[in-house]
Amino acid sequence: MSEHILIIGGGQAGMQIAVTLREEGFDGSVTIVGEEHHGPYQRPPLSKAYLAGEADAETLELRNPQFYVDNNIVVIPSEKVVSLAWGEKHGVATTETGRELPFDKLALATGSDPKRLTCEGADLDGVLYMRGLDDANELKARWEKIHNIVVIGGGFIGLEVAAVARKYNKHVTVVHSRDRLMSRAVGPVVSEFFLEAHIKRGAEVLLDSKVTKLHGESGTVSGVELADGTVIPADAVMVGIGVSPRGELATQLGLEVSDNGAIVVDSHARTSDPRVVACGDVALLPHPLTGEGMVMLESVQNAVDQAKLAAKSLLGGSEEYHAVPWFWSDQAELKLQMAGLSQGFDQQVVRGNPDEDKFSVLYYKNGRIIAVDAVNDVLDYMAVRRALTAGQNIPADLAADSSVALKTLVTD
Ligand code: NAP
Repeated sequence: MSEHILIIGGGQAGMQIAVTLREEGFDGSVTIVGEEHHGPYQRPPLSKAYLAGEADAETLELRNPQFYVDNNIVVIPSEKVVSLAWGEKHGVATTETGRELPFDKLALATGSDPKRLTCEGADLDGVLYMRGLDDANELKARWEKIHNIVVIGGGFIGLEVAAVARKYNKHVTVVHSRDRLMSRAVGPVVSEFFLEAHIKRGAEVLLDSKVTKLHGESGTVSGVELADGTVIPADAVMVGIGVSPRGELATQLGLEVSDNGAIVVDSHARTSDPRVVACGDVALLPHPLTGEGMVMLESVQNAVDQAKLAAKSLLGGSEEYHAVPWFWSDQAELKLQMAGLSQGFDQQVVRGNPDEDKFSVLYYKNGRIIAVDAVNDVLDYMAVRRALTAGQNIPADLAADSSVALKTLVTD
């Protein structure tokens, strides 16, 4: 009897598991079941080129539909799995429509949901989120009529949407709850640079601000009220206040799930049941470079690299996950590229000149490089990413001289 592997989640990670299973020679059945009615597609352009009208929906497709046919990968869209259980011989996933999908092994690539606003007025028409293609299409459909857009949350989603909106001369206000932008992902120097960059490009940015209520007219949002009583006019509100991992199915199988709903995996992407792997946004994994502590990595790089490993683990492999995390964000003509994880750094080196929109910040811990944030500086970004991949260092005292190419400074 051939083995059935079921992959729940039709995003980048789910698709990559299927691809790797076939590349590794698995000849049993592979099924991807996903809730969205689109086949697997790229999400990063949604808040960037797609929203800006510089990419169409077809260019987002991860693979041509024929690819799945040629590789005998069954893709079931528009079906939400609502329950999972192990029987005596195999497991069964049941979807909302009552369809039963048997499996011998399971991959959970269920991703995350955008956190929702909970204040009064949060359910008004015109309060929008940006997670899937349908969300991006909804904003695009309203685009022409929007003059005032309030972006709630100064993370990647909020700032990318704000940059596109300014490009189209919308009046943009970003309301952020923290004292600096993108604080989860970048260091303070980079947060400060992007604050000034967005202000310079015409956005208003409010830090340390709390939204208390959304005002509406005839059921549609018309304003955003802050804790100090200010009401900012809004024809649309884009909410980008973070995501919640979708680990609820894992609890049905008794798998270990963290307090925030993430599925706990080991360095092989295995859950607490070796027949089940989890990867991508839903996984809480050991730090991929140091192994110290657990991290969430909400990125394309992690979705792809961890999914490759998860597929191999399902086939009995024992490779460990040591991929260097990397991320990017496009905001106006600024390309921000990050490699490594800077949390816990005890020293930083700024190279280049933020005033010229081209610089990098190198982060160190105990004298060793741990991460880089680079703005329009692909050479510094690549040099650090390569050094981290090779387990090498770039001494801080030498890196401080911006006139010297970083790649010439790499040591063991
Ligand atoms: P995010 O990066 O977590 O940023 C959201 C920010 O909003 C956080 O700093 C958060 O503060 C703040 N916030 C929370 N509640 C708020 C409130 N009520 N009012 C104002 N601010 C509030 O999340 P995101 O921008 O929504 O992005 C969603 C996901 O997509 C993330 O996983 C992100 O990594 C991913 N994404 C990545 C990229 C990229 O890599 N370029 C681009 C787009 C999206 P706290 O930290 O205190 O919660």
